[in-house]
Amino acid sequence: MRRPFPRALVFVILAALSCFSQQLSQRPPDPAPAPATSIPPNSDPVYQQLRNDRLSGETATVHDLVLKRDAATFTLRSGKFYFLAPVQGKVTGAVFVGDGTLLLAPPTQHERQSIRRLTKQDRLEDTFSHMAVRFTDGTYEEIKSHAEISTTDPREGAAGLDELNAALRNKLHHNLHARILQDVLSEKPGGLFVAFPKSSKYGRLLYAIDPFPGPLSVAMNPEEVILYAYDEDKWGVYYSAHRVQDHGADARAARHASSLVRIQEQNLDVSIDKNGRLQATAVTSLTAQWDGLRVLPLDLFHTLRVQSVSDGAGQPLSFIQEDKDKDADFAIVLPRNLAAGDKLVIRTVYGGPDAVKNEGQGNYYPVARSTWYPNTAFEDYATYTMRFSIPKGMQMAATGARLSDVTEGDRNITTWKSEAPQTVAGFQFGRFKKKEKKLEGMDFQVEAYANQDAPDVVKELQGQLNMLESQGYRVNATLGNMSTTGMLDKALSEAELSVRLYSDYFGPLPYKHLAVTQQTADNYGQAWPELVWLPITYFYDGTIRHQLGMDDPKGYFKVVEPHEVAHQWWGHTVTWPSYRDQWMSEGFAEFSASLFIQVIQKNNGEFIKFWNDERELLTQRNKEGFRAIDIGPVTQGYRLTSGKTGLNVPRYLIYPKGAYILHMIRMMMWTPKTGDADFKSMMQDFVKTYTNRPASTENFKAMVEKHMTPGMDVSGNQTMDWYFDEYVYGTALPSYKLDYSFDQAASGYMLNLKITQSGVDDKFTMLVPLYLELSKDHVVRLGAASITGNRTVEQKVPLNGLKEKPQRAMLNYFNDVLCAP
Ligand SMILES: [Zn+2]
Repeated sequence: MRRPFPRALVFVILAALSCFSQQLSQRPPDPAPAPATSIPPNSDPVYQQLRNDRLSGETATVHDLVLKRDAATFTLRSGKFYFLAPVQGKVTGAVFVGDGTLLLAPPTQHERQSIRRLTKQDRLEDTFSHMAVRFTDGTYEEIKSHAEISTTDPREGAAGLDELNAALRNKLHHNLHARILQDVLSEKPGGLFVAFPKSSKYGRLLYAIDPFPGPLSVAMNPEEVILYAYDEDKWGVYYSAHRVQDHGADARAARHASSLVRIQEQNLDVSIDKNGRLQATAVTSLTAQWDGLRVLPLDLFHTLRVQSVSDGAGQPLSFIQEDKDKDADFAIVLPRNLAAGDKLVIRTVYGGPDAVKNEGQGNYYPVARSTWYPNTAFEDYATYTMRFSIPKGMQMAATGARLSDVTEGDRNITTWKSEAPQTVAGFQFGRFKKKEKKLEGMDFQVEAYANQDAPDVVKELQGQLNMLESQGYRVNATLGNMSTTGMLDKALSEAELSVRLYSDYFGPLPYKHLAVTQQTADNYGQAWPELVWLPITYFYDGTIRHQLGMDDPKGYFKVVEPHEVAHQWWGHTVTWPSYRDQWMSEGFAEFSASLFIQVIQKNNGEFIKFWNDERELLTQRNKEGFRAIDIGPVTQGYRLTSGKTGLNVPRYLIYPKGAYILHMIRMMMWTPKTGDADFKSMMQDFVKTYTNRPASTENFKAMVEKHMTPGMDVSGNQTMDWYFDEYVYGTALPSYKLDYSFDQAASGYMLNLKITQSGVDDKFTMLVPLYLELSKDHVVRLGAASITGNRTVEQKVPLNGLKEKPQRAMLNYFNDVLCAP
């Protein structure tokens, strides 16, 4: 969703950084009455017992105890377990002190590669002398059945428990007690196992099996098993997978994320004051997807404090939300077990500062983008009814259709309704200038909003420069007019052109509006359904950007809007079911921006440069010494960021490589006769099939296979396995060399070719397109050679009827194949 500007030299100061109708506003109908009383946070008595956990004094002395937990084996050679006091009759943790080893042997090649990043080995093996464990599986019974049991002073071993709780609060910011509460209260057995060994070589580790999905899960949805390192320099997810028994030999089996609930409807009544403080009531209608649900976690921004929660009948519900700076996870303690299919209405009253920032002069910045209301994951399509009350003089732009817009006293009040089920809702407001346009021939309207005045940071910057000048300094910066409204027409027309282009390539949107808006952030854009945020710097010209140290050799500002508009299709009309599929959202949006350059700007030179720049992101070494292309497959997504490999890896991998993956398919499907016709029908079929649904990597692969041309069937089995194995699930990067000469022949010319493919494994196959430049800027595609393994193919190609000798022969003229530079 976000397209950040890769800034190296950002100016210090910035870095610190109309009514449709006049009908009276109507409050959305409130399906849940306000409760007469409310329950204070964190007051559930069982939760309190878990939160104030302590050791019981019961200990187990063990020798050569082996705890096998999925891909990991803990061997406790000698030592003692100090157990926690039972809660509701259940012992949910222990502290081990002694001599132990951990062995994690990943069952799949990619997870071995991932472990290698931390250990330089295919498996992790290390010793530890301390380990805290929390569990709701059979660990307590298992340890006891292999140990001598005795009692001791409960203070012995307590330091290990205190240390764990401090790490959970201050470092991991995860309310594990709320997670355990689910298993203690639920009528269904829990299956949680989390170990926190202090590894001799790899520092503090977390190894978990957690079958409970959702925001409180210790694992990464949709997977259950994780190894996470959390010391400063080594932090990162080094293993994440389904349980071994579930995935068997093929870890890529398309499994959609399981979820706890599906939200059908959100009814949000929001008031934001001049300072940006937000106060809201959310009425959320949902259906349980999980049998035995007792604790319902929802994502809510940590500074938004819950005041009360009640159900559809107005009965107050107990809830959990700890300190905003600690483990602030929001979770509702349900009074009874829900079964899959049970429906529930929840009314949450909440508010607080810092979710929206007042940036001065009528500029507001929504910090909490997806968590300003109690929310679930992106694959959850819901309908939204929203009412916003903001200071008079400000204008609101939000997701969905605007139903009304009025001034009441000193407030501006708008109401909104989603036009199609949405992955998420959001807003932007400020003292805006607005332009709008109905798109001829389409039932669609685009709007552009820019702030009338500069935010405080820019005003201060201008003030400081003026002061320096008045003191006689020669200021080598002429910021001049930093008004942003002059670019409104550009923002509007890029929105229109993008919507038209992508509708042609990908098919129609389920929405009828799109608002592109200015935000104070200077280094990224973002897109929600029907709403795009563009960085303030988009609205500046090149001179001002230069003065700000934001020169733009990679053309970021040319594609930021087309990229964000493309998310209307990629990420929102079609969403992704898990982190393993997110590369399609970012990659396809990035790819769409390349279409914008080629088709709208009709500039093949810029188009080729775009793909050169994308390749450079993939193949340049970061300061940690890694190339994004080598770190892992796109299907590991954002978990590829780590203390060892650097923060930018996912940004430099999933955006450009995801884009290349689609670009290569487009180039394979392109023919001189039909152009992009086959590619368009595939993409339109994909969007149509998955409108308002998540599509996984395997869903996309099946769509490519449905539309693949005979030429793409290089392995002769009507699948695209070869391509997905190399570029999507793999990290291949071939190199090519072309030698050629032209001989005059009786009927024209003869092209003598020698193409070498290298740097790949023996099975690697690719279709390598060959181009001829007949005369200056007149380039034609001759065909494609299929090459397998590291080898050189030689061929003579007769160029019959050619009167003049071609200027040159080229491989991959349009960067058709992602290969080494
Ligand atoms: Zn994006």
